[in-house]
Amino acid sequence: MDQASLVSAVDTVQPDEVYNLGAISFVPMSWQQAELVTEINGMGVLRMLEAIRMVSGLNGSRHAGGGQIRFYQASSSEMFGKAAETPQSETTRFHPRSPYGVAKTYGHFITKNYRESFGMYAVSGMLFNHESPRRGAEFVTRKISLAAARIKLGHQKKLDLGNLDAVRDWGFAGDYVRAMHLMLQQEEPTDYVVGTGQMHTVRDAVRYAFEHVDLDWKDYVCVDPALVRPAEVEVLCADTQRVRTELGWEPTVDFPQLMHMMVESDLQQVSREHEYGDLLLAGSW
Ligand code: GDP
Repeated sequence: MDQASLVSAVDTVQPDEVYNLGAISFVPMSWQQAELVTEINGMGVLRMLEAIRMVSGLNGSRHAGGGQIRFYQASSSEMFGKAAETPQSETTRFHPRSPYGVAKTYGHFITKNYRESFGMYAVSGMLFNHESPRRGAEFVTRKISLAAARIKLGHQKKLDLGNLDAVRDWGFAGDYVRAMHLMLQQEEPTDYVVGTGQMHTVRDAVRYAFEHVDLDWKDYVCVDPALVRPAEVEVLCADTQRVRTELGWEPTVDFPQLMHMMVESDLQQVSREHEYGDLLLAGSW
């Protein structure tokens, strides 16, 4: 949020590439703290671009030459929101459905504008949901994988969820980081949609997670209407043609494998936490 600090950071580091992943990323929070989310996820992008422009000495002329620092903006499939078409491609119209999506849409266009205004190498990756064992526990995939592990190990009885019918295109975060890096290695700066092109429901996510621990999800999952969002994004799915053909990028992990990976990791984490707790209780150290 502090322009002077960002200028100082860029000036000190003199980076070749800047990846702006700085954002409040949990969509429901954006209805509670809309102004803060807009400041960070929207205006924050402008401040990063300004910091790069100032350090590069770009003076406002359209043909200033762009400088050497390349910039990646983490745009989001949430910009498609109430999607005008499925799958969503680089040309699909935006209709964001949350203050988060609106702020990300500003960040997207200001990145494109600095590319067009100052000739900067500044690009936006419109990434669909990407997950890993490091995902925050408030997001649905990790909430599900943690619950499956805890229930299997006897530390949780049930799992409350919101809309089980929501459809997402979920991929593995490691694959998506490769796409971000590729986007900054091209001759021409261009925006890309990044996803797997596969659609799954929240219900599928639950099924894959619980089948990994040999449990029937229907015995444990309850729908809590309080977890259903004020304006829901029902279906998101990426049209991956451009990213595959132009960048040669392919995902290496499919969604069932991803849920299994996350549950496996959480089985180990939950076991460790409880061993540690038992040790403390027993006063063994
Ligand atoms: P998002 O797509 O960036 O908002 O990622 P989330 O993982 O937070 O949500 C994905 C989808 O799961 C959304 O459509 C949510 O409405 C749906 N969903 C259903 N139940 C839950 C829940 O208990 N927590 C979360 N976070 N999402 C849920």
